[in-house]
Amino acid sequence: NNSAAEGPELAEPYLREVLDMAGLAVEYVRAGGNTLYQRGADGGEIAIADFAGGYGSVLLGHNHPDIVRCARELLEAGTPVHAQFSRHPYANRLASELNRIVHRELGTDEPYYAIFANTGAEAVEAAVKHAEMDRGMRIVALGEELQRSADSARDAVAGGSVVADRVLRRFGVSAAAGPAAAFAELERHLTEHNTAQLERPPLFLALEGGFHGKLGTSVQLTHNEAYRTPFRSLAAQARFVPWERPEALKEIHERDRGVCFELVVADGQVDVAEREFPVFCAFLLEPIQGEGGIHVLTAEFAEAIQRFCEEIDCPVIVDEIQAGMGRTGTLLASSQVGLRGDYYTLAKTLGGGIAKTSVMLVRETRYRREFEIVHSSTFAKDSFSCTVALKVLELLETDGGAYRRVEERGAALRAMLESVRADFPEQVQEVRGKGLMLGLEFRDQSDAESEAVRGLAGSGLFGYFLAGHLLREHRVRTFPTASAVNTLRFEPSIELADEEIARLETGLRDICALLRDGDGSRLAGA
Ligand code: PMP
Repeated sequence: NNSAAEGPELAEPYLREVLDMAGLAVEYVRAGGNTLYQRGADGGEIAIADFAGGYGSVLLGHNHPDIVRCARELLEAGTPVHAQFSRHPYANRLASELNRIVHRELGTDEPYYAIFANTGAEAVEAAVKHAEMDRGMRIVALGEELQRSADSARDAVAGGSVVADRVLRRFGVSAAAGPAAAFAELERHLTEHNTAQLERPPLFLALEGGFHGKLGTSVQLTHNEAYRTPFRSLAAQARFVPWERPEALKEIHERDRGVCFELVVADGQVDVAEREFPVFCAFLLEPIQGEGGIHVLTAEFAEAIQRFCEEIDCPVIVDEIQAGMGRTGTLLASSQVGLRGDYYTLAKTLGGGIAKTSVMLVRETRYRREFEIVHSSTFAKDSFSCTVALKVLELLETDGGAYRRVEERGAALRAMLESVRADFPEQVQEVRGKGLMLGLEFRDQSDAESEAVRGLAGSGLFGYFLAGHLLREHRVRTFPTASAVNTLRFEPSIELADEEIARLETGLRDICALLRDGDGSRLAGA
């Protein structure tokens, strides 16, 4: 509780109360490496092993000395942090370096243009806005083509060189009034149909369980209903594709697709051709779902999505905000399953745990330079965060050091989680993930014999109670994933020590034994 000296609690007091219920509302006073320090009752510091890793933003560790030094040097040198609307060589260097790595991982040399932003959700918004601008421009071009085709067909009919009776019959237009009048009537029909199509708002495709942020547009692409539905009238809607069910793509397409009619002339006849209307603005997906419970996209599903999107010319936005930036051993987690994005979003560790920054990358073949004039943020693309991000890339890339460390630490952590699962098959459902993005799913305890355990399962906060226990009793910080509270998430930094893995192991075995023995009250902190 706040002391009287601090005054009334106004910064989200209800959230603090909820955290308090699970024993998670503690204050951290210092951070370094893989450790967060809590103030103890005696005034001393208590070291907590951090497996939450700033929700994925501190892969390199808290206050990495090289990042801190870089930040200090920038500020001491009087870097022009806010020099909007000028040349930004640091942003250009960062974009080039991102391109170099992306090209290596994807085996392509197509440039990706960079639009900088501040947060993850903001990078998603930028990608979505760009995709919608592109869709709008494609719609205008389609409308113009339809008009040109109609003009040629009309001229041909007026010149008497072609007839339109077949198409008049198809659309139920009488030819009695003569060729020109009948053709005008036909055109009215088609224009009415086409205009209704051309004015359709965009639809997005996203995966069930996906998480793409909580801003106005991005939260409509986030599957979790509690986050999404209160705000549904604020933005365009998504169709959610069930996980690992590629057939669903065709079903959704059949239901929602749009077709425009184009008048064409062939063999002395006017005919109507069908043109696919771009109703689907973009397909958003994470290579590993973070908040949805650490689910890894398979290469097969990725390929099915990629093929489908190519067929209907729908751009793919790969949201690498949680899985990217080296967390799974490559800059882009999606490059490991052969997925090629038209857009990528990166954030979190891009700022090295100190700067707040994000970026949206868009491939040249989709790029609309007009976007640069209509989209911006006061804070984006600044010298401080761009230079810090360059330092992050240097630390990730130098001699492959950080990537290798991710693989090695990830394997050690995973082996421990698997051993817990093997010893407690009744309590642990599954271990999932890659590199330093791992999840441990507990079995549903709604039918547990112990009333106290059933109570925890029914609270909707199951994983939070487990996290509270780990923090209180084992000095380990972790959280469940936001939309799957039976899955604990482990996203530590590369500074993770063996001793911390051992401490987590002790904690998890303790939890499993308490669940097995039906000791829900100890888990609840009673
Ligand atoms: N996309 C993904 C995949 C994320 O994991 C997150 C954050 N958890 C976001 C978007 C939103 O990022 P931010 O919280 O910085 O807005």
